[in-house]
Amino acid sequence: MKVLFTGIQPTGSLHIGNYFGAVRNWTRLQHQYRTYISVVDLHAITIQYDPKEMPEATRQMALELLACGIDEEKTLLFVQSEVPGHADLTWVFNTLTPLGELERMTQFKDKAEQHRKNVNVGLLDYPVLQAADILIYKGEVVPVGEDQIQHVEFTREVARRFNARYGDTFPECRAELTASPRIMGLDGSSKMSKSRGNAIGLRETAEELWPRLASAPTDPARVRRSDPGTPEKCNIFSYHRLVTPEPELTGVVADGCRTAGIGCLDCKRIFLRNLMKELDPIRERYAELAARPGMPGEVLERNAETCRADAGRTMLEVKEKMGLPRAWKI
Ligand code: ATP
Ligand code: MG
Repeated sequence: MKVLFTGIQPTGSLHIGNYFGAVRNWTRLQHQYRTYISVVDLHAITIQYDPKEMPEATRQMALELLACGIDEEKTLLFVQSEVPGHADLTWVFNTLTPLGELERMTQFKDKAEQHRKNVNVGLLDYPVLQAADILIYKGEVVPVGEDQIQHVEFTREVARRFNARYGDTFPECRAELTASPRIMGLDGSSKMSKSRGNAIGLRETAEELWPRLASAPTDPARVRRSDPGTPEKCNIFSYHRLVTPEPELTGVVADGCRTAGIGCLDCKRIFLRNLMKELDPIRERYAELAARPGMPGEVLERNAETCRADAGRTMLEVKEKMGLPRAWKI
């Protein structure tokens, strides 16, 4: 069975960008591959965080993934820092990575801009750790959002370099995207992100979301209720595509906007109704899971053990090939 690896940072609650852009796809793909999904806390500590909040953020992320339909029987859901192989292999890959390549990464440039006072080496090294995450399990399929394509390409390059220098060891992986790989934030101007405050949280209720949704920008050319709009220029219409079925999508929503038959607030109310149809069951399932004793700790602990064994095997092979064998062999 081919291996799938993907990760998500415990930097906040899941949002609809994560869900429709990536996580929903994972729930489908977990039936086709040996699936590893990691709550990547070692990535999350590359930005300022509160150590007191990290355990709860990690627990919450694991529960949210399970609530979305990640199957505890099918998928190895685990916490990255529980498996030392990720950091071990990162060091190896560091020695194969030219500095300039990391400095040119788009995510590094974005995050360095966002966190000017804390541009640490870990932030720069993020893609190398990500390559190690994937390759320590010899992952071939990496389902992610569009923002991660560059890092998956980098991972392929690292694998090629290792294989050329030390012998064939790692497979070539590929990014697998959804139909909506880049969902914009409520501000309409940047990618929806956990850390930017522009997200629609997966567990938000209609009442919580409405005030921010009501004031979110739409087609800027549609100033008055009577002005016709262009759905393709409206961020809210891009959200409708995620949840509003046909014929309502083309009929009431798109045609309604073009003919000024409905106003932006009417349109947002339709989106809210359809979104909540998707989110209500997830919120309910989250509450059920959170109330279960031993959840998610027991699942995470069991899986970490399996991952340590799998990662350990790869590390042995890597060290052997690099001339770093165990002492009794020399
Ligand atoms: P942060 O702001 O902390 O970076 P994030 O929302 O970007 O959080 P990540 O944990 O970095 O989330 O990424 C988890 C997964 O979700 C990745 O596969 C990423 O590509 C995907 N993803 C994140 N944001 C979006 C988005 N707006 N649209 C589609 N996919 C997304
Ligand atoms: Mg991100």
